[in-house]
Amino acid sequence: FFCRTYRLAHELRQEKARAEALAQTDFLTGLDNRRAFYEQGERLLRSLEISNRPAAVLMFDIDHFKAINDRYGHAGGDVAIRAVANLIRAHLRVGDLAARLGGEEFVLLMADARLDEAIATGERVRAACQALVVDFENQRIAFTTSVGVASLQPGNTLDGWVAHADAALYRSKQEGRNRVSAT
Ligand code: GH3
Ligand code: MG
Ligand code: MG
Repeated sequence: FFCRTYRLAHELRQEKARAEALAQTDFLTGLDNRRAFYEQGERLLRSLEISNRPAAVLMFDIDHFKAINDRYGHAGGDVAIRAVANLIRAHLRVGDLAARLGGEEFVLLMADARLDEAIATGERVRAACQALVVDFENQRIAFTTSVGVASLQPGNTLDGWVAHADAALYRSKQEGRNRVSAT
């Protein structure tokens, strides 16, 4: 009886951990979802402030994504989204956060990164997106991505910090897309 109870309790704990991980994960890309980003981001922001470490938020948004969906269908768009997620994941270091915030929009929070390092990372991901050709049902999908970067400023809330990166991203769009802008 005790053996069985012990085993059931163990299985229940495992099931709970699985469910919690699932609730934090974006189903399409395997990156964190928006909720997980804001939960973990708040925690990370506090620890960055306490230890006075530099950090940067990068926002990525695929250019003219509607046209990709129109041309290749939603499934084709999804393949492009997954490809960008994989490129961002490849630039993740221990302590960073990466999430899909929705649609074709991603965020990368780089801990212990100065602005110039974050801009360089954004530029590498941007260039990799431009160089990428995604195979989809015997077609080749090519696209570009715009990037906005904001370094952590004293007194930033997570929302405010992300909004600064978003404003930089907006500038990249305004100035012709397929580029990196920083605030
Ligand atoms: P811009 O260069 O200004 O970013 O133009 P855009 O066409 O990328 O801009 P917009 O953000 O308006 O278009 C995003 C589209 O993404 C709209 C929506 O139909 C589509 N979308 C949202 N979520 C998903 C998804 O999970 N998969 C796919 N395939 N499409 C999605
Ligand atoms: Mg877009
Ligand atoms: Mg968008």
